[in-house]
Amino acid sequence: MKVPMLDLKPQYAQIKDNVVREVLAVMESQGFILGPRVEKMEQELATYIGAKHAVGVSSGTDALLLSLMALQIGHGDEVITTPYSFFATAGAVARVGAKAVFVDIEPDTFNIDASKIEAAVTPRTKAILPVHLFGQCADMDAIMAIARKYRLPVIEDACQSIGSGYNGKQAGTIGDFGCFSFFPSKNLGCFGDGGLVTTNSDEQGDHIRKLRVHGGAKQYHHLEVGINGRLDAIQAAVVSVKLPHLAAWTESRRENAARYNQLFAGNKNVRPPVEKAGRKHIYNQYVIQVEKRDELKQHLTEKEIGCAVYYPVSLHEQECFKSLGYRRGDFPNSEYAANHTLAIPVYPELPSEALEFVATTINSFTRG
Ligand SMILES: *Cc1c(COP(=O)(O)O)cnc(C)c1O
Repeated sequence: MKVPMLDLKPQYAQIKDNVVREVLAVMESQGFILGPRVEKMEQELATYIGAKHAVGVSSGTDALLLSLMALQIGHGDEVITTPYSFFATAGAVARVGAKAVFVDIEPDTFNIDASKIEAAVTPRTKAILPVHLFGQCADMDAIMAIARKYRLPVIEDACQSIGSGYNGKQAGTIGDFGCFSFFPSKNLGCFGDGGLVTTNSDEQGDHIRKLRVHGGAKQYHHLEVGINGRLDAIQAAVVSVKLPHLAAWTESRRENAARYNQLFAGNKNVRPPVEKAGRKHIYNQYVIQVEKRDELKQHLTEKEIGCAVYYPVSLHEQECFKSLGYRRGDFPNSEYAANHTLAIPVYPELPSEALEFVATTINSFTRG
């Protein structure tokens, strides 16, 4: 049996009629940049996420970049973040000229260890940038307590966590900004690149809207320098068609995760992901930890089972961040995760026989 890591085609089959109609309507209108479809999508997403403002932008990366720009973070500033994330988290910090200050992760959730943040705060710290990795929120109560104590803004990288819950709140509504991605492999993906910034601040919502069109308050009049960070109408139309399905797709991911958890329960050589109390994990990725990760990955590949390593290199060990001065051994939990985690298929339409085949193959290999 061949099992892909992610198969978007069954999802497309569910929405095809609507999505084709909506995309055609954009083409008929010949209005491609921002406009009414982007505004409609922004309102729908603000409601779904539970934020006052949602601003459609060109990608998750640009959502992070625009949030950092809105806070006027730049040269000489430090931003506290996690070394275990997709590159864009730290890339955006470097892009505005600031320095990423890494804090190690919790070994069970893979999210930034809030108990280690305070020791990293300096007079140059200008923000905290936690990532809600794989679909589960970081420990936001502890993070917000430190943020209040030192008067630091918080940017949530919720690119993998749309609809993820934390003590009755949703990812992207707790800090000052929430950053989301519509990259096709995310739980709510468009047909290309796209993203969203959420905020409960009227002033910052307005600010992000200006920054995404080169910083102009009105056309051709600029008080500050922004970027071209707009979202296309076609992408917004796709997101609007998909959004009504998102809750059901999320439930399917959670059911798949629960089934895997059961199947791995008797196997001490596989550590399934941990969902902490008070949190709702939305399983953008289902990530296990195994001792012989690379051997397992190779075995699954031979059996035509898709799997992926997110992420094989801790950000503090990236060549381009050499000048930050970190060394191997600085963040042992992040380094351990980079060498022992493996993501396996969890997409909503994954057939149950395929899921069982994946789990059985992993169990027989790891039980040796
Ligand atoms: C996907 C992702 C991003 C970047 O989103 P793009 O839309 O691909 O630019 C940033 N951070 C995390 C944690 C992500 O998973």
